[in-house]
Amino acid sequence: MYKIVDKLMQVEARLQQATTIANRSRDSVTLLAVSKGQPAQSLQEAFAQGQRDFGENYLQEALDKQETLRSLPICWHFIGPIQSNKSRAIAENFAWVHSVDRLKIAQRLNDQRPPHLPPLNICLQVNIDDETSKSGAAPNELPGLAQQIQQLPRLKLRGLMALPAPQSDPLRQRQVFAQVRTLRDQLGALLQTELDTLSMGMSADLEAAIAEGATIVRVGTDIFGARH
Ligand SMILES: *Cc1c(COP(=O)(O)O)cnc(C)c1O
Repeated sequence: MYKIVDKLMQVEARLQQATTIANRSRDSVTLLAVSKGQPAQSLQEAFAQGQRDFGENYLQEALDKQETLRSLPICWHFIGPIQSNKSRAIAENFAWVHSVDRLKIAQRLNDQRPPHLPPLNICLQVNIDDETSKSGAAPNELPGLAQQIQQLPRLKLRGLMALPAPQSDPLRQRQVFAQVRTLRDQLGALLQTELDTLSMGMSADLEAAIAEGATIVRVGTDIFGARH
């Protein structure tokens, strides 16, 4: 029988090992459980094991689960593509958005973030291997975008998110993640602010991502199994 508790323990063991090898503390990396396509019951099981951060890609599906699980102190992250007509509900119901790649969306999230909530944590999604089919800002668009987002008071720019094309060679995985880290460091220097977040690494490449400084790894299938 499939047990989320066992899968979470396996992922936790990988995180322990990867952070140890990278000479980093375990608590320098947050595990984001990517729960798209999973029922609320599965999130509840993971929550019972201490999991607190959950990532969702589809707004309506996420809102339904939030309603079911509203008594639990979950930290909700939106990680999917953002249509402008969905920005208000995202601004109202999430603590983090990892997939901001254009100014118009950032401005809407800023204007729509309710005043009683803290600023919305933002990662800019970077299209690191320039695949035309993928979302994400091009590396050369990041400085302009970040400078404008820094002026928006209801957003807190935290760093970058990347979703590189799958790579089986661990050295190649690391090269791409190192590029993301360099971009983050350059942006921080330009803005004269600390950008403390690198959202990168998934089930297949979290070790390489942690070796290159990931602070949030996003894991779906290896925790919850196949999506429904
Ligand atoms: C689905 C998804 C993940 C998790 O992918 P798995 O292969 O299920 O681990 C991570 N990041 C993003 C942006 C996703 O859409």
